Amino acid sequence: MSELKNELDGISVAELLDDIPIPAFIINKHHVITHWNASLEIASGLSANEIVGTQDQWRPFYKNKRPTMADLIVDGVQTPELDQFYEARYHPSDVLQGAFMAEDFFPDIGKGGEWLSFTASPIKNADGDLIGAIETLVVITDRKKAEFELTERERLYRELSQVDELTQLYNSRHFYNELETELERSRRYKQPLSLCMIDLDCFKDLNDSFGHPFGDQVLKKLGLLIKLHLRSVDSAYRYGGEEFAILMPQVELKDAFTAMERLRLELSELDFRTDAGQVMNISLSAGLVTAESTDSKSSLVSKADKALYKAKRNGRNCICFFDSL
Ligand code: GH3
Ligand code: MG
Ligand code: MG
Repeated sequence: MSELKNELDGISVAELLDDIPIPAFIINKHHVITHWNASLEIASGLSANEIVGTQDQWRPFYKNKRPTMADLIVDGVQTPELDQFYEARYHPSDVLQGAFMAEDFFPDIGKGGEWLSFTASPIKNADGDLIGAIETLVVITDRKKAEFELTERERLYRELSQVDELTQLYNSRHFYNELETELERSRRYKQPLSLCMIDLDCFKDLNDSFGHPFGDQVLKKLGLLIKLHLRSVDSAYRYGGEEFAILMPQVELKDAFTAMERLRLELSELDFRTDAGQVMNISLSAGLVTAESTDSKSSLVSKADKALYKAKRNGRNCICFFDSL
């Protein structure tokens, strides 16, 4: 402990530490606190007088006794121990060899807890023997809050830019991104990928007869219905005004047809009530295709489109395959 009390031009280590506006403490190799600077007195509410000479360095930070990072350094830091106490939240310092840094949330500090960034470094004597460790702390709650807000805003923005507001299905921009990914996956793992393009029948007439807002309600309801029919790996998109696309990875044409037929039937049996109390039914036509290894995004969409036009030509309210053209 006396080795840590060297004087520098008459200024003690304790006085020097008190001049640093960063909370810091030092422990010796027996885990006993030798220094507790003025900044840490303010931050922790514990005075140097009451804590120096004890092994209570954990007290301002934790409810129960446990090693601080400085303690682990003094013990000759081992990754498994750091893992146990700090999980993946620590990393070796880029600047100082043997020093570690971590960021963590301390629920018991302050009113609602604080985020702290802390660094612990070994202290060695002239012979290079480990004689203690110094730990410094910085409150980073404001920075962390800003980071979380940014992440949340990014997530929200990403979601907004991918999702169609009316139907809550993904939009066409996201469709092309996902189609690319799924085509690549289907090629790599040699798994089928089915695509269904859906277009509502005589939707213009419906709008003309009952008004655009009623048409919107139908689209909204169809969005819900489609979602009910999706498996977790499927994804649905509002491709255009009253046009929808459904991507079904790992699904052969026959099974995709069964699933889409169920959706077609259910929609055709659904009653839509107008403001005037009139009950309306609406149907869909769809084109179905399963990707071949040579298909690109545009060739696959074009095949599904051709199949859809065939369904329209066949009298609507039906599903056609590209294969059967
Ligand atoms: P078909 O059976 O041949 O598909 O006939 P259709 O009337 O559905 O086809 P068409 O493409 O001529 O008309 C599509 C209509 O969908 C025209 C447009 O007013 C309507 N529509 C597109 N987007 C929206 C929307 O967001 N809300 C409402 N209410 N209608 C929309
Ligand atoms: Mg259309
Ligand atoms: Mg239509």
